[in-house]
Amino acid sequence: MSDKHIEQTVLNSNDNRISPSHLCDIFLPQNGLQERWKAFTRRRFVIAETGFGTSLSFLSACQQFTQFRQANPTATVKELHFISFEQHPLTKSELIKATEAKPEFAHFSQQLQAHYPPDISDCHRIVLDDGLITLDLWFGDITDSMPQVWTNDDGIVDAWFTDFSQIEAADMHQVAESIAILARKNSTIHTITSHQGNQQDVLKQNLTEAGFEMAESHNHRNSISPTHRLLVGSVKTRQYQANSKPWFTRTSATNANDVAIIGGGVASATTALALIRRGVNVTLYCADSLPAEGASGNRQGAVYPLLNGSNDCLTRFFGPAFFYARQFVEQAAMNSTFSHDWCGVTQLAWDEKSTSKINKMLSGNFPQELVHALDIEQTKQKTAITSNFSSVYYPFGGWLCPQELTRALIKQAQDTGRLTLKSDVDICGLESTNEQWQLTDSTGNQFTHNTVIIANGHRFSEFEQAKQIPAYSVRGQVSHIPTDDTLSTLKTVLCYDGYLTPQNITTKTHCIGASYRRNSADLAFCETEHQDNKQRLVHCIPDVEWPKNVDISANQSRAGVRCASRDHLPFVGNICRYEALIEQYKDLRDNQATAETVPIYANLYSIVGLGSRGLSSAPLLGELLASQICGDPLPLPHTVLNALHPGRMWVRRLVRGKQLGSK
Ligand code: FAD
Repeated sequence: MSDKHIEQTVLNSNDNRISPSHLCDIFLPQNGLQERWKAFTRRRFVIAETGFGTSLSFLSACQQFTQFRQANPTATVKELHFISFEQHPLTKSELIKATEAKPEFAHFSQQLQAHYPPDISDCHRIVLDDGLITLDLWFGDITDSMPQVWTNDDGIVDAWFTDFSQIEAADMHQVAESIAILARKNSTIHTITSHQGNQQDVLKQNLTEAGFEMAESHNHRNSISPTHRLLVGSVKTRQYQANSKPWFTRTSATNANDVAIIGGGVASATTALALIRRGVNVTLYCADSLPAEGASGNRQGAVYPLLNGSNDCLTRFFGPAFFYARQFVEQAAMNSTFSHDWCGVTQLAWDEKSTSKINKMLSGNFPQELVHALDIEQTKQKTAITSNFSSVYYPFGGWLCPQELTRALIKQAQDTGRLTLKSDVDICGLESTNEQWQLTDSTGNQFTHNTVIIANGHRFSEFEQAKQIPAYSVRGQVSHIPTDDTLSTLKTVLCYDGYLTPQNITTKTHCIGASYRRNSADLAFCETEHQDNKQRLVHCIPDVEWPKNVDISANQSRAGVRCASRDHLPFVGNICRYEALIEQYKDLRDNQATAETVPIYANLYSIVGLGSRGLSSAPLLGELLASQICGDPLPLPHTVLNALHPGRMWVRRLVRGKQLGSK
């Protein structure tokens, strides 16, 4: 968007658009939000709008909600969730420019700008003021993205601000229906419509058919513009049900106040914080005496997304997950200290296979901020070390110490008073009694909770309820090597058929890794894997001396066990009853239209299978699971949610008419 266009949009418009500042002046007072918030009986109020534009409606809503919370600290409503759809997002610099004229919103606009994503389709979640405000920015054509927004049977949106004067006449019916599908009972809608032709009548009819009771607002009839009208309406009776396939249903907890997490790694920590931001009390059971002694216990791990060129679920998950991870880590770093460096990640095209993989990935035409190509000279400049290869570069990537991060997150959670950490408690049994879960530890102690999350990495299969989840253990060993004159110059994480991190200045070491031994959970030091870590570096970067000089003689290393899946995606959501699912869906190939909701263990969830990229995925996965448990809007499109569903691999087979056996 040109400067002129932004100015026009911000200040006023001579075309068919209403200025955004004018829109928020219209929508917010018209909705009677202050009165509604006072009487509201849920924790989270959800506003959705079409057209994020320059963010002014959002910023104004943030400000009003904050003022409301300050004036009404005992009100039931605690959080504001704002969903916005935008097909032509401003760039970050355009957004900054557009909001310069509104210093009164600086507190929120600065947080928004800090985490504002590049133009990648689907949902970008931005959390402001430690969860007081949540923004879901859906980029892309509204007719594609709206049907991708998940809802349960009750709907998820309490108030809609829509500008139908920007929506093609041909799309009006579909958009009106999508809006109604997402609207809760008593949800309101305020919509601008063009006065041209019969747009107003058509829109009124479409929204009425979709389930809204509509009227024209006379308050603002003359103040919008000579060519626009405001229509208002509300849902008296909701006509729709949940919009996911029955076998991909996501169910919230019947009582989300008391959640037990079995784990202690980065997945547990991010989930615990996301729940605590929603006012949930969490008890964390960790088998070790300290958190992050498992896979999350390394000194340095690379943070960068797993992408390919085909825009499939992997890319559609890891793109937004990576930006969310960066946001989450930066927010955590404001309150804690842990080693990390956003130094960028360089992935070398070191042989034919890696070059072809990289070229395929680049065919995905990703924004520069996500990933871009570097030639040999640029690679040398960027990494400050010689490899003689071209590469791709992830400018927002870097490395962090997962052990320090996990412990810092758990400490932050404890500091809220909402997390109880029970260390050295190895949970070995789970039983459902009287609609509660009873946890039994290895010494026979029992604990009772309403809701339980299995987040214990590769040991998930020790629980009867989870053992069929098709994930497996993969042992990995990293080697710690002392820095030297050449290695200390390395400026970015360097990926080849392994990875080398820049120096951790606290320990004066680098990390090279990692071995990958499937179906092994052995933690003993392995000399061969240690040698292989160096050998891979020498093999991949053969024409220069420095890899050969890497000193592994001190045998410094660390082994851990990943929990991986065949499709490189984790298993996050309700744990399905395997035998019941097979029985219920035995004819799924032919009976999809009449299929019933997937059988699950009530109030039992998993977040396992984070594989080799848990540092990029755990923050968004934790946010997803907490949102689901609490019944909040979910931060991913249906297509990706389905690809993360714990029962996905089974129903995919059954849909194809294939049989399932025991694991
Ligand atoms: P874990 O960290 O394994 O946590 C499991 C926790 O569960 C542990 O605290 C354990 O004590 C607890 N537990 C287990 N059973 C029980 C029980 N019965 N009762 C109570 N508590 C229990 N990812 C990246 O993104 N970048 C990298 O560069 C990278 N490098 C890696 C290198 C290696 C060698 C390895 C092994 C992994 C690497 N990973 C990397 C992957 C990443 O570390 C994992 O995806 C992530 O740590 C998984 O976190 P988690 O919380 O699921 O599991």
